[in-house]
Amino acid sequence: MNHKLLLGTSNPGKIKEFKQILQDIPYELTTLKEASCNIEVIETGKTFLENATLKATQYAHATKLPCISDDSGIEIDALNGRPGIYSARYGGPDLSDSERVELILEEMKNISIEKRQARFKAAIVIAWPNGKILNSEGTMEGIINFSPTGENGFGYDPIFLLPEFGKTSAEINPDEKNKLSHRAKAIRNIIPLL
Ligand code: IMP
Repeated sequence: MNHKLLLGTSNPGKIKEFKQILQDIPYELTTLKEASCNIEVIETGKTFLENATLKATQYAHATKLPCISDDSGIEIDALNGRPGIYSARYGGPDLSDSERVELILEEMKNISIEKRQARFKAAIVIAWPNGKILNSEGTMEGIINFSPTGENGFGYDPIFLLPEFGKTSAEINPDEKNKLSHRAKAIRNIIPLL
């Protein structure tokens, strides 16, 4: 029987992407819910890598299972790199994904197309209960669109325009996103080390 690998996230969008990207590895993927892991990890890190490490190590310790976690977000040049590590809670914890998107669009309403560069970044960490740790990082470059388009993906995907497709990352199909996304790149780099 395959060993288990815990997906250390409760974000349904990320769980879906992890399962698709990791479908061929010789591990049985399991979720925090399936492992009855209810601990709350406080993200006190100052970088994506520090926060991904906090999540993977604490979940691995609590469940006694190896755990893969990511910390990810979007850095927008015209906003001096915001929201960055605060992407999930930008504007306050009570906002929905679409309200966060509207907040970004409002903050950028006077920014011209030439100055709308942004990138998604992901740090991936796999931690084992015995203290072993692997990590990896990935980036996807794009441009902040002027309005939300597309139904796929999650978070800021509807305003993240991929210039080579002329579409947002919420318009391309999930298979395409999982070939080129920040998370996919970081996960693919770490798989050979498993
Ligand atoms: P965290 O890594 O769980 O702290 O949250 C990352 C946040 O960054 C998500 O809640 C999204 O708002 C945003 N984010 C990260 N990756 C993506 C992506 O692939 N598409 C859209 N938004 C993303």
